Parts: sequence; C-alpha cells; structure tokens
Amino acid sequence: MAKYGEIALKGLNKNTFEDLLVRNIKRRLKKCGEFHITRNQSTVYIAPETDDCDMEKAIWWVTRTFGVAAVQRAAVLPKDFGEIVKQGMPYLEDVLGAAKTFKVEAKRSDKRFPMRSPEIQVELGAAILEAFPHLTVNVHEPDVTVKCEIRDTNAYLSAERIIGVGGIPVGSSGTALLLLSGGIDSPVAGYMMAKRGIGIDAIHFQSPPYTSERALLKVEELCTELVPYCGDIRFYAVPFTEIQEALRDNCPEEYFTVIMRRLMIKITNRICAKKDYNAMITGESVGQVASQTIMALGCTDKVAEYPVFRPAIGLDKKEITEIARKIGTFETSIQPYEDCCTVFTPKHPKTKPSIAEIEKAEAGFDFEPLIEKAIENIEIKDFKL
Ligand code: ATP
Ligand code: MG
Repeated sequence: MAKYGEIALKGLNKNTFEDLLVRNIKRRLKKCGEFHITRNQSTVYIAPETDDCDMEKAIWWVTRTFGVAAVQRAAVLPKDFGEIVKQGMPYLEDVLGAAKTFKVEAKRSDKRFPMRSPEIQVELGAAILEAFPHLTVNVHEPDVTVKCEIRDTNAYLSAERIIGVGGIPVGSSGTALLLLSGGIDSPVAGYMMAKRGIGIDAIHFQSPPYTSERALLKVEELCTELVPYCGDIRFYAVPFTEIQEALRDNCPEEYFTVIMRRLMIKITNRICAKKDYNAMITGESVGQVASQTIMALGCTDKVAEYPVFRPAIGLDKKEITEIARKIGTFETSIQPYEDCCTVFTPKHPKTKPSIAEIEKAEAGFDFEPLIEKAIENIEIKDFKL
C-alpha cells in the first residue's frame, strides 16, 4: 500500500495528481514483475500477480517515487475477524518475533463490518499477545505498530511501514532544465525541484581538453543516479571550451566567474525557448563561493529569461551534503574530476560586482557567434527509467 502524502490534501484537481502518481509507479514497477495496481482512499494498492515478483525491489522503487509518503507492506485478508487472526498471525511472525513491544491501530472504513475500530484493536491485541507471549503492549513508543484496515473489498494487515520520499508526482509542475555540474549541490537541487513535481532535464558545460572524459562520465553517472527519483532525463552536453578561452583572452580576470555563469544562462535561455522548458535550476547557495554572493547572483539573474530556481539557496554545505548522501549522489560527486568552473578561476574574484561593471567587462568581445556554435554542437543523451 503506497500512501500519499501531500496529494491527499489537494482539492478539485486531486484526480490528476493521483493518475500521475499511479502512472509513475506503474512505470517503475515494470522492472519488478507483474502487478495489479489500483487506487482508492488516498492509497495506491500494489498487488503482485505472480510469485516471481521482486517485492524488495518493488518497495525500493515505490519509496523513491515522489508523491509517496510511505509504503506499508500488508497481507490482504478476508473481512472476517476469525480469518484475520488465523491468517494474520503467521504473516506477522517475522516482524513481531523480533520485537519487544507493539500496539494495534485499526481503521474501519467499511462501516458494515460488525466490529468497531476500538473493538478490533482490543481483540486483535489480545490475539497477538496470545500468539506471541514475549510481547507487551506499549501505546506510546512501540517497536512495531500493527495496522488493521477494513476497507471496501478486503482487510489489510500490516506491521512494516517504510518511509517514502514525499513530495508531489513528477510531471505535475511543468519542466525545467537543471544546470548540472559534477559537484555536490546541483544534483541535490535537481532532486529538490523534482520533489515539487517538476520534470527535470540536465544541461552540462564541458571544456575539453581542460576537462576530461572522466569528468563528463561522472556527470552522466549523476544523471543515472537521479533517474529513479526524477524519471527520464535528457542530458545536453554543451561544448564550452572556445567560449571560455575567449573569455580568458578578452575579459578582465576578476570577472571571469560571473561572466561565465551569465554565458551559461544565456545558452540555457536558448535551450529553454527551443525545447519549451519553463524554468532553470542551479545548485547555488548564498555566500558559498565568490560567484554566489547576492551581488553576483543578481548579475547572473539579469540575463535569465526564465525563472531560476535555486532550492539550495538557504542551505549550508552540511545540509546539502546530508541530502546528497540520502539520495546516493554524494560518492559520485566527490570523485576528484575537474569542472569547467575550476579551469580558469580568477585569483581575486570580484565578490561585489555591479551590473554596470560586468556589462562593461563583457563588452570587449562579441560572444554571440560562439554561443550559436556551441548550441549547434550540443550532444544529447537520454537517461531512461
Ligand atoms: P556544485 O556542487 O553544484 O558544482 P558549486 O558549489 O561547485 O556547485 P559552482 O561551481 O559555483 O558551485 O556552481 C554553481 C552552480 O552553477 C552549480 O550548482 C550548477 O548549477 C551550475 N554549474 C556550475 N558548473 C557547471 C557546469 N559545468 N555545467 C552546468 N552547470 C554548472
Ligand atoms: Mg561546481
């Protein structure tokens, strides 16, 4: 049983969100066997149709589907209290055998069922104590909460609750292009916005031979790691070498980083327009480095023609790192390969650039032909669920 989080609170358009969630779950479960999937009362029911369904793998995928707050592994039983006890006790044996304390929570949504919820709780609790005499009841902090839900067609008995990623289903909030470097922050930023339902594709700027093939492979690996959460990702690799060399040769050094960021945004603008993305996403966080002061961010924003989402903006490195570890991108991100940003780093970057200064510093060179050329030579790769 996949329980919705936030979707349950939606109003009139709740159905659209639910359909999308079911679709996203179905796509992921194709890898795990044949399942019968239905939805009812803020729950998606996922029942294996054959014995060879990989349930562990199915739970892995479903708990990583945005929109799912928790997964409860449950036995589907007849709506008969005697049968619930008879078939339920062997089912609960593994989990309750390893516990010391428990409580029962019952929910009767089918009011035709003859016992009311408090009565089910008392009777089922007694049956459990009889079957597992080593247990005691603890209603405040039990090791295990046994849930018994009496629903339309069946009773559901469960003792295992696995926390899901929460959020809302990917595809419910438009699409955005994630500026993906090989660092820790940008994959986390992509994850955070996908959690808000945004479909993510990624754009990466590479500067061979200053950046290596391994550096590119690392970023592609990050895409692979984001796919279970974000769904399919189209990856645009932009050749950025000539632009960076022109920047190095024609602009004052202390402005390199901010101008480079503006050039990245200018290219991203074009891709957004061409391919219909609604926004862009970066991993920036105020104050982290010279290019991420308020003034520098302002200079970057000035050239953006789409909203720039920076979900990590108020997080510190420790918080971003915690998320990176949780979602599994951290180990890849810390592989020591160069990023184009680190190639021509100024020794003394200007931390408080004004728009006027930056525009003046850029004016000595016409980047437009190089931007056009870079866009023509983008390489596209698709990462699929
Ligand atoms: P990250 O850990 O995401 O690399 P960072 O702390 O290293 O971030 P910067 O190198 O200043 O910070 O980059 C800031 C943001 O600019 C990144 O989070 C990313 O969104 C974008 N960015 C930087 N380099 C690239 C690149 N080579 N290709 C695409 N986007 C990039
Ligand atoms: Mg970086």
